[in-house]
Amino acid sequence: MLRSVVSKGLSLADDVFIALSPDARRPAAALVGVLFHSLYASREQLCNGLLAPNQGVTVDGFRNFVEAALEAGYHVVSPEQVDAGLEPGRNYVVITFDDGYYNNTLALDVLEEFQVPATFFVSSHHVLQNKAFWWDAFSRQLTRAGATHRALKAQINALKTLTNDGIEAVLRERFGNAVLQPHSDLDRPFTAPELRDFARNKWVRLGNHTRDHEILTNCLPSEMASQIQACQRELAEICGYAPVAIAYPNGNCSPAAIEAAAAAGLRVGFTVRPTRNAVPLATEYSRMTLGRFMFWGGQDARVQWRKFSSSFVPSNALRTLISGY
Ligand SMILES: [Zn+2]
Repeated sequence: MLRSVVSKGLSLADDVFIALSPDARRPAAALVGVLFHSLYASREQLCNGLLAPNQGVTVDGFRNFVEAALEAGYHVVSPEQVDAGLEPGRNYVVITFDDGYYNNTLALDVLEEFQVPATFFVSSHHVLQNKAFWWDAFSRQLTRAGATHRALKAQINALKTLTNDGIEAVLRERFGNAVLQPHSDLDRPFTAPELRDFARNKWVRLGNHTRDHEILTNCLPSEMASQIQACQRELAEICGYAPVAIAYPNGNCSPAAIEAAAAAGLRVGFTVRPTRNAVPLATEYSRMTLGRFMFWGGQDARVQWRKFSSSFVPSNALRTLISGY
C-alpha cells in the first residue's frame, strides 16, 4: 500500500517536473542508453510464467519505442560510434539488450524496418552450455510453490550477493540438477550457430556480458579479468569479432571492474544507472560507466521518452541515490 502511494507520488512529481522544465522541451545534447532484456511476440505471451518478472516488452512495444526515439530527433548509434566520438550538439541513443535471450531475434524486423543498430550483450557460457538464466529458473520454482511477487524479488536479490557458482549450487541443491534446463524458445539463450547467424545481420552488434553473468563486484580482480576475457574470446570464436562494449551484469561496476574491462580491450561500458550521458563524453571513466534507462512494456512510449529526454527526473535521481552510484 505504502509502496504504491510512494510510487504514484513519484510518478506525479516526475510529470509535474517535466512539464515545468524547459529541458523537457529543449534538452541538452546527450547520449541516452536504453536497456531491454526479453522480447515477447504478443501480449498473450506475457502471462506464461516461464520468465522472472521483467519489463514485459512486446515487439509492438519495442517498435513504438524506436518510433518515439526517432520522432524525438534521436540518432541511433552503435558502441563503435560512441567509441569513435560523438559530435556535440546532437542527441543520440544506444539500444541495448542484455543476457543473450533467443527471443531477441524478434527485434530484427523492427531494426530492419527503421534501419537502426542495436547491441546485444551476451553471457557466452549460457550460449555454449544451453543453460537457462538462474533468475528465470528460480522464479519458476518459487512461483510454482506459491511465492508472492515481493517475496520472489527479495529472494532473487539475496542470491545476487553470491558468485554465479554459488547461486547455481543453491538452485541445484534446492531443486535438483535439471533446474537450469530451459523450457522453451522464450526462456532459452541463443545457441552458438544461431548467435553466429544473428550477428551477421547488419543492424546487430554483440557485446560482452561476462562468461557466466557474473556480478563483478562479488569477484576478486583476477576473477573479473578471467570472466571478461573468456567472454571476449568465446564471442570472437562464435561471431568472428571481439566486442568493443561491455554491459556489467546487474549494472554493478567498480574501479577494478572497469580496469579489468579496459585491459581486455573494451572501450565502452554500460551500467543501469538511469541517467543521460553528456555529449561529448569527457573522460574514459564516463565512457566506461554510461547510464541506461529501462523501457517498460504497457506504458506509453512517448511519455517514457519525455523522461529519458529530461535532464532531471525526480524518481530517477532517487533511484540513482539508492543504488549508490
Ligand atoms: Zn544481465
